[in-house]
Amino acid sequence: MQTRAVYAKGKMDFDFRDEQVGPPGNQDVIIKVHACGICGTDINFARDWPDDYMPLGHEIAAEVVELGPDVSALKAGDKVIVEDCTMCGVCGNCKRGHVEFCRNMYNLNDKPGMAEYMCVRQNSCVPFDGLDYKSASLTEPLAVSLTAVLNAEIPLGGSVVVLGPGPLGLMAAKVAKLRGAGFVALTGLNRSTPREKARLDLAAHYGADMVIEAESQSVEDLIKSKFPNGVDRVIVTSPPRSMYDALKIIRFGGIITFLGLHFGGQDAIELSINDLIFNKITLRPTFAEPAINFPLSNQLLRDGLVDPRKLITHTPSLDQLKGTIGSIISGDKPIVKAVCLPNG
Ligand SMILES: [Zn+2]
Ligand SMILES: [Zn+2]
Repeated sequence: MQTRAVYAKGKMDFDFRDEQVGPPGNQDVIIKVHACGICGTDINFARDWPDDYMPLGHEIAAEVVELGPDVSALKAGDKVIVEDCTMCGVCGNCKRGHVEFCRNMYNLNDKPGMAEYMCVRQNSCVPFDGLDYKSASLTEPLAVSLTAVLNAEIPLGGSVVVLGPGPLGLMAAKVAKLRGAGFVALTGLNRSTPREKARLDLAAHYGADMVIEAESQSVEDLIKSKFPNGVDRVIVTSPPRSMYDALKIIRFGGIITFLGLHFGGQDAIELSINDLIFNKITLRPTFAEPAINFPLSNQLLRDGLVDPRKLITHTPSLDQLKGTIGSIISGDKPIVKAVCLPNG
């Protein structure tokens, strides 16, 4: 079987390849990709990646169309989410039951989800029902937000600030509320572009009680006017330097969880270790691999506890992908979450 598959590197250099898919290995399935979300990582690859072409797309919702000879857990027609990283089940940590520390994870073998078809391992598939493909493709990013919120151990009725108004920040705000937060604030830079405005305008729908435009408003002043001693938890979904804002508003003994990466050389920041020690601050990085929170994340979407529909504002085809990623970078369109539909 033939497929079109999309790769990209920095300066918006896209490579559309015609590739052979299959025949599937013993434990593999061939899937038809119905929806694949555009992630910040994809944007990083297309805008900044200096080296070889990278595969685009890992937020995959698909239909099983062909089975390898030893596949028993799936059948043709099944709807599945594909894990971008799957625990191996055989390394020492997996054997001890600590699959979250697997050191031998399976991935997508450098193949893009931005493709009509893929060949993947059966044990990387999570079957689902009761949800359309487009909405189901949010399972991966929601699992990232969900993992950060679970790591934050929010006290019942507690105060939370989420830094960053992207899909991860919006969904983290919502899940924080579900997890018992009494107050949630969400920060973004400003409303100066259609994209920034669209994101901040959705904040209330996703559980935010307060929205802060950090470019023109002081996050510290606004938060301290309501919580003079700082907030219980801060969840950082924005780039590493946002940690400075987080440290200004966290209370004594508070927890900061963070997942915002930077691949353009701005990943290092300077921190006062004395301040962390004397103020008993816990810094907790979140890395949601392997994908152990996919089933719960999918359930939250299916049951409507996290609304997938308002978040997905654009659904480009493979041919429209480059234009959509360009618009996400420039901010000229009100894109909150774009989900590619490779098969139309
Ligand atoms: Zn992603
Ligand atoms: Zn393992």
